[in-house]
Amino acid sequence: MRIIPVYSPWLSAKVNKYVLECLESGWISSQGPFVTMFERHFSQFCGAAHGIATCNGTAALHLALRAAGVKRGDEVILPALTFVATANAVSYASATPVIVDVDPVTWTLDPDAVRRHITPRTKAVIAVHLYGHPADMDPLVSLAREHGLWLIEDAAQAHGATYKMRRVGGIGHIACFSFYGNKLLTTGEGGMVVTSDAALAERASFFRDHAMDRRRRYYHTEVGFNYRMSSLLAAVGVALLEDMETILDKSRAVARMYREGLGDLDGVTHPPEMAWATNVFWMYSVLVGPSFGRSRDELMALLEARGIDTRPFFVPLHRLPPYWDCGAGAVAEGLSRRGMNLPSGAGLSRELVERVCTTLRELRCRS
Ligand SMILES: *Cc1c(COP(=O)(O)O)cnc(C)c1O
Repeated sequence: MRIIPVYSPWLSAKVNKYVLECLESGWISSQGPFVTMFERHFSQFCGAAHGIATCNGTAALHLALRAAGVKRGDEVILPALTFVATANAVSYASATPVIVDVDPVTWTLDPDAVRRHITPRTKAVIAVHLYGHPADMDPLVSLAREHGLWLIEDAAQAHGATYKMRRVGGIGHIACFSFYGNKLLTTGEGGMVVTSDAALAERASFFRDHAMDRRRRYYHTEVGFNYRMSSLLAAVGVALLEDMETILDKSRAVARMYREGLGDLDGVTHPPEMAWATNVFWMYSVLVGPSFGRSRDELMALLEARGIDTRPFFVPLHRLPPYWDCGAGAVAEGLSRRGMNLPSGAGLSRELVERVCTTLRELRCRS
């Protein structure tokens, strides 16, 4: 029996063509046309003016915080339910993460919780578009304006998702993407900072490249980083971005198949899609409730025994040893206990989705 992996990316023949073109051009470092092309095309895709490609999404987050001037003593508010990289980037910037709860319906940052945690030291808010669904940005934009805060989007899981008809990545002051192997748009490893603020873009680009003075070679006025992306990987990104609509359509089609295939199976809650959003369903994420008759962990083990790979939801940040003292979030804890990601990705076939649905129906325990 073929194992169904938790994520099946979609790749095209164009990838091979562009990578070969890149190799043959001799421009394989971060110099050369593919990196600039990828930055231009991807920032346009997000509706933003500038893109700064990086070696991964975590570096993009750190670079965004550094470009925004976030430093020791500053507080950065972020949601309890996200991948650890969001919080680690705040730690790299020597700032203090302030972990707050998420909304029970959207599973993303709760604007009221953010409001309650703003102090005179708050410098930035990071909204995470979790599992493909955008955070509710309007109230966060208002809070940021009212209190003079940077609004950063962690869009690593939501390339192409829209909030009120606008693509994520172009809504906050600055946004960060990941192009890791299992993300919707992938270069294997990679990331990008996206912004329409020319000064932020200039600083992000400066720090990405060892903070070297623009006019004086090997003169460095601050401690910078090497967070550059290789041209070979940018070539992969350029190729896949040309088929981004196909990738998003396929990912959304997988979600439709799950919705139809599982229907109103008792004890399974489907992922949200608010009226103001399009979810790109990076991972088809469900909640397992008491009426399923089995716990989430029991279900995951049984699926694994049947060759179906799943993932539990993230452990809430404040339940991780480095962040024990950094906040709380009861809603995030409940979601984290009940949530799991089913096999997903634009490369997943109808046949395999149907096998997952059938297996889930068989595993439900009638009382
Ligand atoms: C994947 C991811 C990152 C980090 O990206 P890498 O490219 O793996 O460094 C950051 N934030 C979120 C929400 C992610 O899912």
